[in-house]
Amino acid sequence: MKKRPFICLSEPHLEYDVIEPGCKPNVIPVPRKAVLFFDKTYDKKGAPLFKEGDRVKTGQKLILYADSEEYIISTVTGTISSVSPYAGDFGKFYTSVQIDVSEDEADDAFEKVSAEQSIETVRNYLSYLPGNLPIKSFLDPGNKIDTIVITGVDSDLLVVTSQYIVNSKMEHIIKGIKILRSIPGINNIVLAVRRDSLHGYGNIGAEVKNISTRYPSAFRQLVIKESLGREVPAGKKPEDIGTCVINAEAVASLGAAFLNNRIPTDKIITLINKDGAGKLVSARMGTPIGDILKALNITLNHGDRLILGGPMAGSPVYSEDYPVLPDTDAIMVQDKNYIQPFSDYPCINCGDCIRICPANIPVNMLIRYLEAKMYQQAADEYDLYSCIECGLCSYVCVSRMPISQYIRLAKYELAGINTAEAANA
Ligand code: SF4
Ligand code: SF4
Repeated sequence: MKKRPFICLSEPHLEYDVIEPGCKPNVIPVPRKAVLFFDKTYDKKGAPLFKEGDRVKTGQKLILYADSEEYIISTVTGTISSVSPYAGDFGKFYTSVQIDVSEDEADDAFEKVSAEQSIETVRNYLSYLPGNLPIKSFLDPGNKIDTIVITGVDSDLLVVTSQYIVNSKMEHIIKGIKILRSIPGINNIVLAVRRDSLHGYGNIGAEVKNISTRYPSAFRQLVIKESLGREVPAGKKPEDIGTCVINAEAVASLGAAFLNNRIPTDKIITLINKDGAGKLVSARMGTPIGDILKALNITLNHGDRLILGGPMAGSPVYSEDYPVLPDTDAIMVQDKNYIQPFSDYPCINCGDCIRICPANIPVNMLIRYLEAKMYQQAADEYDLYSCIECGLCSYVCVSRMPISQYIRLAKYELAGINTAEAANA
């Protein structure tokens, strides 16, 4: 893949990257220790259904508590060495399950039922797939989903994971589309791809729509608008307008599960190195990021930064032990010398952020309210919830204000306030 500097203010606009023809992923060895995350707070009193010392097989379903339907799939074979709470960003809590890995042995529970190819089988076994299949979204009858948009485009710059999947796994995607078509109520499935790759798909069971190659057109709200002509209202989710957005990799994984009678466990990731050059890797989900860096001979020095995602909308992680998760599409290693520090300079009202904002938000006003922690007013009067978190305002801000960080914090704080109010009502 080509390399380019992260910040290039001379570019009139930012174009998404194109995957090089024939680009293939480097296969990362299975780790000696794997870490899996439950998207659920660990509660010892809740008597987890598994414990340290238990043996697990590759593809085995792990349910945390007896009264919960939520599960993850063990991506390795081995012995559970710890089950503990893990604090993520913005007050999110997970349960971390560490496994000492031994030689792969396949669990056969899915194989026994995979001939059925029913929605129940999808619900019961396939919620922890590479690409993060949003089962709750499209199988919850309350959402009344009639349209599925499959994104074959990557939302951040330098990332080409979805392009690779569309180019190399079309047979799996077609099978996945067939399964999705059998969900009651689904009458429209669209595959969104780059404008310049809109050819040669044939009959895949979905309408192929093109998406602009200009950043941030691959963000889900903009993909929905460009491919369906539907708007997601501010503060609402795609599900609120009957639409579910699914990554191409999740659809390919769904198809591969039924074609191979085995739950896929390997994730495709774009690894962006310190010089901006990208590489595709294939890693077992649960592999610590540090193992991937080691396999590629990438050294992290004091002051370098690890980012999950791409340069515009990614989030920092603070430990090389953080694992590859179903939605880990990209990992970026930023050299300390390329990190543009934020400043505490005030806004000088230059208006650059307003001109570049794809949601037409008066960002210069919004930032004043966010700095003063007036979050509700920011939402009511200055379109906080219209923000798609593309990071363009921070990118152009001459005062180097951490605008998108303020925006994420404000949304998190308001979500906490609204949850507390609902609980007390
Ligand atoms: S991150 Fe900034 S530029 Fe992007 S939508 Fe939000 S306010 Fe607008
Ligand atoms: S780009 Fe920065 S300095 Fe310029 S108006 Fe926006 S927030 Fe203010």
